[in-house]
Amino acid sequence: MNEYIANRMNGIDASGIRKVFDLAAKMEHPINLSIGQPHFDVPDPVKKAANEAVLAGKNRYTPTQGIEPLRNALRKELLSEFGWSDAMERPMLITSGVSGALKLAFAVTINPGDEVILFDPYFVMYKHLTALYGGVPVLVDTYPDFTPKSEDIEKAITSKTKIICLNTPCNPTGQIYTKECLKAIADIARKHNILVISDEIYNFYCYDNKFESMAKYYEKTLLMRGFSKSHSMTGWRMGWVTGPKNVVEKMTILQQYSFVCAPSVAQEATLVALKTNMDDKIADYKVKRDLVYNGLKDKFNLVCPHGAFYAFVPVPESMTATDFVTKAIQNNVLLIPGNVFSSKDTHFRLSFAAKDEDIKQGIDILNSLV
Ligand code: PLP
Repeated sequence: MNEYIANRMNGIDASGIRKVFDLAAKMEHPINLSIGQPHFDVPDPVKKAANEAVLAGKNRYTPTQGIEPLRNALRKELLSEFGWSDAMERPMLITSGVSGALKLAFAVTINPGDEVILFDPYFVMYKHLTALYGGVPVLVDTYPDFTPKSEDIEKAITSKTKIICLNTPCNPTGQIYTKECLKAIADIARKHNILVISDEIYNFYCYDNKFESMAKYYEKTLLMRGFSKSHSMTGWRMGWVTGPKNVVEKMTILQQYSFVCAPSVAQEATLVALKTNMDDKIADYKVKRDLVYNGLKDKFNLVCPHGAFYAFVPVPESMTATDFVTKAIQNNVLLIPGNVFSSKDTHFRLSFAAKDEDIKQGIDILNSLV
């Protein structure tokens, strides 16, 4: 029923992930390996800080760009990570999650017909936000190792290419872009004067190598990070963005007329989150990653995930991923079929943001299906 609905909503459907969630709601005790958020709770000091903020009356609108102490604390992090001498003067917008930053970024940059390069498999939101503003998603295939190749990116570029949108560590593949890969993307973007959106929401989750940021290699990077995954604050809606001044300024103007500001209480508590070490949780997730990779590698030809909390696993060639996931769900294991994130339906996404017992049971069931 399309009464009242704007044309821009054509083609934007409930994500396949929602469909799996709806199925999960009907199952009694599913082994849920489909979840996109950490399985642990927000650290206690952060909860305490939020409580104190409420009681101290920090319940009102904040400035649109976010509270100054948080913006400065984040700029200090930029200074220590990137060594930027102008870090303390950089634009810094606190957003309602990275989703909020993405929505604003696409809204202020995309004209109808503009092309946005996405690396397939991609995080679903990028494709839909591109389409919402009349842009055209141009997919660059990164199978089988999920690393974009320079020649493929060059081939995808036209006079209409405005943005390359990347995500490292990547949802859904769990891959991390190496320094060489980021430098190659930077060279191409610089040559064609393209804006790069770098979604680094999983930057804490790196198991084998040091995390490398696109912002280190390309000056026109719109860098986005948040606290949903690092501190499990998914419901608190905390993200931030820095990058080219004109773009962040327009995003700030649009935030004023949309989200208004990121949640005030969460902003106060994030000051404490920034000081809360999460290394033990990341070490715990590395053990989970090992469990998944070692548990599945004999029967499934998967690439070892080096980051985030997902494995992107190929199904046997005789079936589609949707068929395989249906079979897994019938056997009580919830997964997401790859076609939710890709033009192909050859892999499933397994999230290891789950209890070790669930992961082990899930692995046994999946192995029994092939
Ligand atoms: N970007 C990626 C790659 C994600 O996986 C997610 C959440 O799953 C988001 C952005 C959205 O995060 P937030 O909770 O900060 O809006």
